[in-house]
Amino acid sequence: MSERQNLLRNLPAVDRVLREEELQELAELLSSDILAEAVQIQIDSLRRQLISGGASAVSLADLEPVAIAQATAIHCRDLLKPSLRKVINATGTLLHTNLGRAPLAPQALRAINDVAAGYSTLEMDMNNGKRGERFSHVESLLCRLTGAEAALVVNNNAGAVLLALTALGRDREAIVSRGELVEIGGAFRIPEVMEAGGVLLREVGSTNRTHLHDYTQAICEQTAILLKVHTSNYRIVGFTGDVSSAELVALGREHQLIVMEDLGSGLLTDLSSYGLCPEPTVGEVVRSGVDVVTFSGDKLLGGPQAGLIVGRKDLIRKIAKHPLARALRIDKLTLAALEATLRLYLQPRRARSEVPILTMFAADLQQQKKRCGVLYQRLLEEGIAAEIELVEDLSRVGGGAMPLTELADWAVAIRPHHVSVADLAARLRNYTPALIARIHDDALWVNLRAVFALEDCLLVQLLLAALPGEDPC
Ligand SMILES: *Cc1c(COP(=O)(O)O)cnc(C)c1O
Repeated sequence: MSERQNLLRNLPAVDRVLREEELQELAELLSSDILAEAVQIQIDSLRRQLISGGASAVSLADLEPVAIAQATAIHCRDLLKPSLRKVINATGTLLHTNLGRAPLAPQALRAINDVAAGYSTLEMDMNNGKRGERFSHVESLLCRLTGAEAALVVNNNAGAVLLALTALGRDREAIVSRGELVEIGGAFRIPEVMEAGGVLLREVGSTNRTHLHDYTQAICEQTAILLKVHTSNYRIVGFTGDVSSAELVALGREHQLIVMEDLGSGLLTDLSSYGLCPEPTVGEVVRSGVDVVTFSGDKLLGGPQAGLIVGRKDLIRKIAKHPLARALRIDKLTLAALEATLRLYLQPRRARSEVPILTMFAADLQQQKKRCGVLYQRLLEEGIAAEIELVEDLSRVGGGAMPLTELADWAVAIRPHHVSVADLAARLRNYTPALIARIHDDALWVNLRAVFALEDCLLVQLLLAALPGEDPC
């Protein structure tokens, strides 16, 4: 008998491996089927290695039940590790879409906790004990904050746009400027959303310039909506021109058309005092007379993922009654977080100090420099195995908002001595929490603007774990 056959015969049975001490703790956490299958996968893999690579590919020790149990345990522990886990965002991009956009205020977290753990007034009118509307919890707040007559909230802004368009313009035309046929990351494109909603797109103007008369000439029997879309994530510069919301409103009134504006990012407070370029607030757009305004909950508003629709009462009611509204309805945890976030805006000063995204915008440059200096010093003292440098940096808003806005900032640039920057970044991605920073100029740029002050210490520990201090000798 060849040695290989001998080894193949030595492969233990699944039951034998399952009795190993190594797997007893996991048996408490995983069903017996899942555990047995994991062991089977290890055994099958050894068998394949033996058949393809021969006896030299596998040692006798590898075939011991205890060795197979250990290999299985490593695999199973991965299964128990959360995949969606916490990240320290040291990228300098505040609304990083891949990292979950806006972090929530403590008040929003408490509201989620209160509502999630038990029962709530979600759809009960507490005045009469009868059935109520879930979005009623935020409607009057949204009306007060934006000056709108009525409001509705759904799952996200893409859903809000689709729902509003289809409820108000199905089988009819919406006129949109060619300069506003926006694509948002994740395959949200205005023309495709309109098609999905059964609304016919009537493009007018050119990429860089659209005039009021372009809209006027396109109006026909079929027209239902004049749609304006905020070019959130790009800017057309140079010889440009577009039609203001107020001009569209006047035209809409004249022809009895609905004027709708997709604002993308929903600003409830003017951010120009933060040194950011001016963006229209939702209130300004409502005041200009736009009938229906849609925006996101988790962009500049700093709340949870949600789609907010505010505007004329009759239109909001019509949208709320559409069958798609049920399919896109907001869940109670999101609603709790949204309500708590909106309440903070009742006092703009409070919003500024409690809504994390606003606090990050407002962070003082000198303060940022000081924090980065402390980080730099710590890493230096610990003798981290890297060349480090305190550098001037720029932070960004991200999340497809304010693409041209850059906030002056500081960062610590790290050039590791013994591993590549890509390897360092990969190590940091694997920790819990993971640390994500930017690779630039062959260094890892650690920017603290989107890092909570409470995380500074942990951030140092993660960097030191990834690049242990160098031995002075
Ligand atoms: C971000 C954005 C959307 C999509 O909003 P979500 O909340 O991400 O679904 C739609 N339109 C515009 C103009 C946007 O900026």
